[in-house]
Amino acid sequence: MSETLTVIEPATEAVLAEIPRAGAAEADAAVARAKAAFPAWRAVAPADRARLLARVASLVQDNLEPLAVLEARNAGKPIGDARGEIGMVVDTFAYYAAAPERLLGDTIPVAGGLGFTVREPLGVVALITPWNFPLCIAAWKMAPALAAGNTVVLKPAELTPLTALRFEELALEAGLPPGVVNVVAGPGSTAGARLVEHPDVAKVAFTGSTAVGRSIAASAAQTIKRVTLELGGKSANIVFADAEIERAAAAAPMAVFGNAGQDCCARSRVLVQSSVFDTFMDALHWAASEVVVGDPLDEATTMGPLISAAHRDAVASFVDADSPVSMHGEIPDGPGFWYPPTVLSPVDPASRAATEEIFGPVVCVIPFRDEEEAIRLANDTIYGLSGSIWTRDGGKALRVARAMDTGVLSINSNSSVRVSTPFGGFKQSGIGRELGPHATDAYTESKTIYYATEEH
Ligand code: NAD
Repeated sequence: MSETLTVIEPATEAVLAEIPRAGAAEADAAVARAKAAFPAWRAVAPADRARLLARVASLVQDNLEPLAVLEARNAGKPIGDARGEIGMVVDTFAYYAAAPERLLGDTIPVAGGLGFTVREPLGVVALITPWNFPLCIAAWKMAPALAAGNTVVLKPAELTPLTALRFEELALEAGLPPGVVNVVAGPGSTAGARLVEHPDVAKVAFTGSTAVGRSIAASAAQTIKRVTLELGGKSANIVFADAEIERAAAAAPMAVFGNAGQDCCARSRVLVQSSVFDTFMDALHWAASEVVVGDPLDEATTMGPLISAAHRDAVASFVDADSPVSMHGEIPDGPGFWYPPTVLSPVDPASRAATEEIFGPVVCVIPFRDEEEAIRLANDTIYGLSGSIWTRDGGKALRVARAMDTGVLSINSNSSVRVSTPFGGFKQSGIGRELGPHATDAYTESKTIYYATEEH
């Protein structure tokens, strides 16, 4: 490994670390280590695998603060958010520590005997993850994959590899055998692409952009790899006139400015019923002015910088002289990839800002007349990941929820992700579900065995 990967701190533009840059050769070596470790790991008794995963959870808990500081600095996220994410890594490993002993099958009576099913691990699984929630998203994949008896090769985003590399050390310290967790820190075009085409990789679990997801699905088809994809979003936040308007408006800013808008679940389109539009906008502007943009390590900060200069410029390209800007927040002076929290209103639903994933702190507000129009606007997108519905009418909330082509919805809330509930998208937001009780299905094959009890 001759080349270097320079890791930048987005809040200061300073070099945070220089690490070896993995490429195709390092990806091959990691797959070979994972392949060698697989037979012994799948043979570990379920209760022992459970104990090891629980030990990983408790070691991450012991290291929560340094991991959170590293994540906050590398990804530019507020320290409070980073602590929450590392806390979710702990919770995810603790939750899936129960899974090895619950990989259940069916028993099916058939003529002359019994049929029954068992869940078998796939083998070596490649996990390719983005920079917005680095270790958290990696844990959503690693924990169920390892619980099911697979070995993993994790390729974190090249902009944010540091917590994954630290995790690899902690996994060994927790007692996971060498080769069970392997981290390859390098670019997607070399290390990532090699993992996707590698004949010894049984499955790719990918989170990232829809464009890269398409190319991964096409490449994985050559070896009929199992593929799950968690991709982009353009989620709707629907506010009906009968909602608690103050509460909906107070929640709307952080539903899109959280993580500086770099969140696949960002409610980046707020659909507001026309009769309460002005009242809602006044409350939204007030709530948005409370966002504190600044140093990620300052406890008061609620929004940090964007991940890179290139990404900041891409976000800025959605806001030009013709944009209906109704609010631009403040940003710090000096270095850092800052972009202000920005409200666009009222936005043409067919415009680029309202249809493409901006992945930054820019929210589009769009008025609607009635329930039918709200559903039509919400569904008028290639994406279908997340969304919110604000109303006091329970029947309407559930009617609209059922009508939306969306994987995860919250009613009178912004919540999208819980360890114990499935998460994933409709349409071009992805294929498959992570988290929840069935996530191990995506890391196992069902095998059917017939046992003859009489001659037939
Ligand atoms: P990205 O698609 O650019 O990169 C994601 C990962 O894929 C990185 O590790 C990258 O190195 C790798 N990669 C890139 N090209 C590759 C290739 N040809 N072969 C193999 N690997 C390759 O995404 P990003 O910019 O890191 O993240 C932002 C995107 O992720 C947004 O679109 C966001 O919506 C999406 N996202 C989705 C979810 C979800 O759960 N649905 C969660 C977080 C982020």
